[in-house]
Amino acid sequence: MVKIFIDPGHGGSDSGAVGNGLVEKNITWNIAQQISNILQNEYEDIAILMSRTGDSTVSLSERTDAANKWNADFYLSIHINAGGGTGFESYIYPGVGTPTLTYQQAIHRQIIEETGFNDRGMKSANFHVLRETDMPALLTENGFVDTMLDANQLKDSNFIAKIARGHVNGLEKAFSLTKKQSQTTIYRVQIGAFKEKENADNLALQASGKGFNTAVLFRDSFYIVQIGAFSSRNNAEQLAAKAKDAGFNTFVSN
Ligand SMILES: [Zn+2]
Repeated sequence: MVKIFIDPGHGGSDSGAVGNGLVEKNITWNIAQQISNILQNEYEDIAILMSRTGDSTVSLSERTDAANKWNADFYLSIHINAGGGTGFESYIYPGVGTPTLTYQQAIHRQIIEETGFNDRGMKSANFHVLRETDMPALLTENGFVDTMLDANQLKDSNFIAKIARGHVNGLEKAFSLTKKQSQTTIYRVQIGAFKEKENADNLALQASGKGFNTAVLFRDSFYIVQIGAFSSRNNAEQLAAKAKDAGFNTFVSN
């Protein structure tokens, strides 16, 4: 079991960088959700904990404390850059060697390959989330909100999906993750299906406020709110029961 702590930068009263109509906290949330979703759907033996549920205010200490307490194997912090420039860079704590360095190399390379971002290099910095984590930690800066070229890409949902996929491909390499067999039935726990995306987003927000890990998927012309996906029907039923207790209409599909 590989335990990955995913930290979407900023949130709540801290919007992070803003520019060209983009708000960093929303983009980091979107990327983090997609990474979590892909990992849950496609890989075996993986556990994920997010530093925030929805658009909430969480301090840096609260984030690193949560990862340390959970005993994560890896801390992945996702940010968007500002201040002039273009492309992608990643950070580890100064002077740390393997395995952190090899994780950085694997993930950095896969993100560049998947996105085609200008490569600003593998860097190190004395950032709180890199310094105060007990486990290897990486911080990614995915484009600049205040550079038109990057901002236009960050507005494109296909490009955001590539950023997420690049992180996942890197994690797969870094931790030798095993893909679920394609013939494996996936039991999806869903709490709603809507024609309007806004309704799905609202329900997802409610569910994440109650501690559920949510994803909104578009399938067969409906926006589906999913709170988990399992290869074991039993695990899916357990989560469905929990969601039902929390007041949600649940159904398990495969
Ligand atoms: Zn940031």
